[in-house]
Amino acid sequence: MNPAAGRRAVTTVFSQNKIPQTMRYQVLLAQREQNYQSFSVASIIAFTISVIYILQLLYAPGKPLSPWMDTAYLAIFASLAGCSLFFFLLLHWLHERFPIRFESLFVYLYAFLMVALSTSLTVLDMTHSREYTGMFVGLIAVSVLLSGPGPLYAALSCLSLLIFSLGFFCLFRSEGLNAYLPGLVSAAVSAAIGGMMQAGRVHNEVLKIHLQDLNRELREYSFRDPLTGVRNRRFLMEYLDQQRLFENRHSFGLCVVIFDIDHFKKVNDSLGHPVGDVVLKELAMVTQGGLRDSDMLARYGGEEFMAVLPKTAIDDGVAVSERLRAAVEGHSFPGVPWHITASFGVAQLRSDETVESLISRADIALYWSKKDGRNRVSRAGEHGNAPELAES
Ligand code: GH3
Ligand code: MG
Ligand code: MG
Repeated sequence: MNPAAGRRAVTTVFSQNKIPQTMRYQVLLAQREQNYQSFSVASIIAFTISVIYILQLLYAPGKPLSPWMDTAYLAIFASLAGCSLFFFLLLHWLHERFPIRFESLFVYLYAFLMVALSTSLTVLDMTHSREYTGMFVGLIAVSVLLSGPGPLYAALSCLSLLIFSLGFFCLFRSEGLNAYLPGLVSAAVSAAIGGMMQAGRVHNEVLKIHLQDLNRELREYSFRDPLTGVRNRRFLMEYLDQQRLFENRHSFGLCVVIFDIDHFKKVNDSLGHPVGDVVLKELAMVTQGGLRDSDMLARYGGEEFMAVLPKTAIDDGVAVSERLRAAVEGHSFPGVPWHITASFGVAQLRSDETVESLISRADIALYWSKKDGRNRVSRAGEHGNAPELAES
């Protein structure tokens, strides 16, 4: 990450407002997933370490300490073991069942508990050695593992420092500031590390979401015809393949309609290509408007379009095509001083027929429409299968 990006990320994490509104929920979801994974592992590790210490205290004690100290150590490790096990089980039960903020809050509580217990451990350790490991490791581990809002890390450090200060002022005040400093440094360093790690995580998450959005947009572009905005041939073929499988299973009826503008060359030749382009856009708009939302319109190539009509049998497919034909004929295309018309061919998928064969039958029907004088609708098979297309 370059320095400018780093600064941006730091301000991002300390001010959740800097995360774009649309991304906040996604960032929260990512944080929940990270916390779920890291704290599942952390709770098991904490449980195992606590059990090892408990066994050591019970069965292989070192230099004897005072009875109340042994009891205090046992109580801390037993609390950590019990809470970790309970946390692990509840986290697995909660995950994706409860509202996201509730699950996050539960993880934060466990983090506070871990910090409180590890700091208490350090206070106990200080009674017989200069040992700050518990507090330091607990704070750093939680800061590194936990994914949450920036102020959380400051709050965790404050809690740890509070417990440490209480212990220090009650028990070791006479030792001077030198004994206090390591605790202070641990708290400050862990807050800084936690904040910085979180800044990086949020920054990466926001980048990841941007990339996913861009990917989605690119995918959408790659399936659209840039001139008319309707689906392109690539999408059409994939879509038809899926619809064919669905139709083979359910037999609701699946129709395709191919249509081609009549004498379109005349538009280009006499009015120019830009007018021809406008005609193509208008035609896509008019025909799209005449279809149901569940139908799909695509530019098949040049000035040929194809509509796919799921849950439609041939009679309804012909009726829809007739409606489209009338809509095109009745539309006044800007810049064109005559009526634009189109010819249509309709076919219904037969059982076990390939997509290529279906399209080919619709295409033959379209050519019959052209041959019969244009501006009309033909259904596949009504003129026989082998039209002579010599003067279409
Ligand atoms: P018919 O009634 O037999 O269909 O006659 P037609 O003149 O429409 O003939 P045809 O379908 O072969 O015409 C295709 C024309 O469509 C030729 C090509 O220049 C034009 N065309 C294809 N794509 C585009 C495009 O994106 N923009 C423009 N302006 N014209 C295009
Ligand atoms: Mg044409
Ligand atoms: Mg054509």
